[in-house]
Amino acid sequence: MRIGVMGGTFDPIHLGHLRAAEEIYWAFGLDHIIFVPAARPPHKTDHDVAAPIHRYEMVSLATVFTPYFSVSPIEINRPGRSYSVETLRELLTLCGPETHLWFIMGVDTFLEMSTWKEVKEILRLAQVVVTARPGWRLDEVEETLTPQQRRQLGNPQFKYLKIAEVTPDLSRRGLVPGLVLLVEVVSLDISSTEIRQLVEEGRSIRFLVPDTVAAYMSKNRLYQERQEAAREGVQGSLLGGWEE
Ligand code: ATP
Ligand code: MG
Repeated sequence: MRIGVMGGTFDPIHLGHLRAAEEIYWAFGLDHIIFVPAARPPHKTDHDVAAPIHRYEMVSLATVFTPYFSVSPIEINRPGRSYSVETLRELLTLCGPETHLWFIMGVDTFLEMSTWKEVKEILRLAQVVVTARPGWRLDEVEETLTPQQRRQLGNPQFKYLKIAEVTPDLSRRGLVPGLVLLVEVVSLDISSTEIRQLVEEGRSIRFLVPDTVAAYMSKNRLYQERQEAAREGVQGSLLGGWEE
């Protein structure tokens, strides 16, 4: 079995994540892609992340109609921080020794990867596939890394490919340790940060996230703190005026 693994905070999941996964699935002829929402992402400290159960539910709703996509609670069920190396090991144990894992991530994530726990082991356990993302040059990844970062990654080889250049031969071969595939996909200029901001400002997020996800966010009032604070402010001032 050839299984893609796509980790992330998914706060919330959006069409950029889904499109990148879709392209890699078809290009490499994978059997399945598992989305793995992180419990406590070690690298996100700049904002309050929505509760894991909400992020899990949203990934579920976003993937439910796609038979070859699924979501795993493996990281949110594990106590402590989310480390990819532990997730890959656990997935390999669960799926069996015949499984090849394809660890899919955007280029922004890959550029931070040298600091991750047991990063060389990650590159040994799974075929790392780095996908394009607007704002980053995929063809310049190798030059962007500092010598120290390259060393931390175990001096991997890089192969830069357009999606149409992924040959059956390349896609069918097993894991090549120490090889990082840089794959130019149709990347959508969408981020979870932008979506949270749009919701905070009470603006439309339609066609950026699946409708089911938008409905879930609205029903559970996710990311609406600023809107609510503004409403309370207005109510407060109205009441203040009335009480006087
Ligand atoms: P945030 O803005 O909160 O960081 P995000 O949009 O970057 O959210 P993450 O959950 O951080 O989403 O990303 C999960 C994975 O998906 C990462 O590997 C990231 O690089 C990749 N990714 C995110 N957005 C896109 C996109 N628009 N196109 C391709 N890959 C993406
Ligand atoms: Mg991100």
